[in-house]
Amino acid sequence: MRRFTRRGFLRSTLGGSWTSAALIEQAIFRATAARAQSAGPQPRLFDIHKAAEGVYLAQARPVPLLNCNAAIFENSTGLLVVDTHSKPSAVAALVAQIRKEISPKPVRYVVNSHFHWDHAQGNGGYRKLAPDADVIASEATRRLLQQEAGVRMRQSLESTATSLEENKRKLAAAKTPEDKQYYQQWVAGQQSFLSEMKDYRPDLPDITLTRDLVIHDKAHTLHLAFRGRGHTAGDVVVWCPEKRAIAGGDLLHGWTPYLGDGYPREWPSTLIALSEFEFDHILGGHGAIEKRERLYRMRDYIEELNWEVENGKRAGKSVSDLQRQLTPDKLKSLRDGYGASLGASQRQGFFVAPGTTPESMLADSVRTNIADIFTNLDRT
Ligand SMILES: [Zn+2]
Repeated sequence: MRRFTRRGFLRSTLGGSWTSAALIEQAIFRATAARAQSAGPQPRLFDIHKAAEGVYLAQARPVPLLNCNAAIFENSTGLLVVDTHSKPSAVAALVAQIRKEISPKPVRYVVNSHFHWDHAQGNGGYRKLAPDADVIASEATRRLLQQEAGVRMRQSLESTATSLEENKRKLAAAKTPEDKQYYQQWVAGQQSFLSEMKDYRPDLPDITLTRDLVIHDKAHTLHLAFRGRGHTAGDVVVWCPEKRAIAGGDLLHGWTPYLGDGYPREWPSTLIALSEFEFDHILGGHGAIEKRERLYRMRDYIEELNWEVENGKRAGKSVSDLQRQLTPDKLKSLRDGYGASLGASQRQGFFVAPGTTPESMLADSVRTNIADIFTNLDRT
């Protein structure tokens, strides 16, 4: 009789020989994966939405220390999953949910759209759950993970520990049941993050690309592409021509762009380079499934802020002058519902204090964008 160690069992069910796994074994897997995350009952971390046949977005629910979304492509004998969230336990939760709601096929490919913590720190989860899967990224993302991931994790562990103490104090002082629950969730989330990630070592991609990599599967074609710098120096998208869908990572999504590691002058032209791909559905790294039009809205917004910040800088204005001057209502690119949609999506997707409004979230994001563009506008 074949005996399964836990690891061997996970390897056989997810790593390549899933077809031989009996249904009962799959049920055991689900229980094992759930237990592996923690001793207690687990909240659901994702909502899975279908964009087209065999194309899904696992939209992250708001939690302290956020997770990114995953885009899931169902190939003929395995799955390709884009991005790995902020921790391996989120990967375990997602894989269990995929097996229940999409397919028991093994994860064959994992893509890191870019190097950020909330997109790549869960790589180790796939190493355990799907050891035969290849992890793919751009050459630049692999280099950035090597250089930055360990350093940033140490900073993140330190700042999380400091913030945890602060949240414990706020919990003790909380007056309303809503505030109590909010700080309780922060404290629990930060404690489990610290214990899960204390020994983190970055898991680097096995396969890299500098421009294109095409997977010719019987079910459809998956075209991985790097078309220039934008959100980071190495953002990769996954385009599926037959299903007219693209996984945009943080280069193209339903939230305001984040420019802290970005290239403001190059981002708009990188977006236009992506418009060479024919797609209707955008499965971004954050937010809901969006339509193609979102690409142009995002481009217009970044270009408008670039222009305003550049002129402001030339006129001798400071960051805070520009933040006071360029409120969301002053920006043309945020009109016709774009700004409102960003605010609403971010209010829904971030774990924020009770009483936070979509308007205040949008205003915060615009202020952050102005500061980051001010710093990075002439970055080479
Ligand atoms: Zn990012």
